Amino acid sequence: MKFALINGSKELPTPKAEGICPCCEAKVISKCGDIKLWHWAHYSKRNCDTWWENETQWHRDWKNFFPIEWQEVIHQADDGEKHIADVKTEHNCVLEFQHSFISKEERESRNDFYSNIVWVVDGLRRKRDKDQFFKALAGGVQVMPSPLLVKIYIDESRIIQEWSDSKESVFIDFGDEQRIWWLLPIKDDSWSYVVPFSRQEFINFNLGKVNVDFVSFLKNCLREYALLFQQRHKTRSRELFPISHIKPKIYYRYQPRRRSRRL
Ligand SMILES: [Zn+2]
Repeated sequence: MKFALINGSKELPTPKAEGICPCCEAKVISKCGDIKLWHWAHYSKRNCDTWWENETQWHRDWKNFFPIEWQEVIHQADDGEKHIADVKTEHNCVLEFQHSFISKEERESRNDFYSNIVWVVDGLRRKRDKDQFFKALAGGVQVMPSPLLVKIYIDESRIIQEWSDSKESVFIDFGDEQRIWWLLPIKDDSWSYVVPFSRQEFINFNLGKVNVDFVSFLKNCLREYALLFQQRHKTRSRELFPISHIKPKIYYRYQPRRRSRRL
């Protein structure tokens, strides 16, 4: 963990310090060595949150985009089950930064637990994922040029294969400073749909710099894509995107950005 409680406030680890775990309230000790990132650890080897994964610099870099109060927020379900959300925004959207492999079952239980969740996946953990993805992209079908929407063959990319079943939005981070890739929470037989998404915009939306609930915004985007596609291809007979299973929350609060007029 990046934070423990000392006298009730969230503190970073410093050498030889002791704090309280904000999740289980047990004593934790700071681990400030040279190899792993400085972190807080429970005295007993087991972490109280079984979903917790050891943090990498990648996790920390992502978390650091957001205010401290939003990082490592304890989320408790009605039945008392507790977990630590990587980031929880003021719209109660949970951002999970996933570096290591996660089983489909565990992913689904987190989706259910948080209900309002967006995944950001480290696309650089395995050596071949990035090349594979861009190869699949190059061989994919451009569904729309603007905004760019490409459908790619699921079997050609292992990382897409692993995440293609997700019913929640997934963003894959291949380390590009400009953009991350949104894997739409829909699929069409053997195809998945991906959209490049500005990294900065992703952050701004979640920071609330644009006044919109990010999850609703995504669902709205998705709907717009589907409508645009249907209009362009004049396909009324068959819905390309099975969007019916995506439960709309608050559509149309999103105002498309107006282009500034040039004089
Ligand atoms: Zn704990």
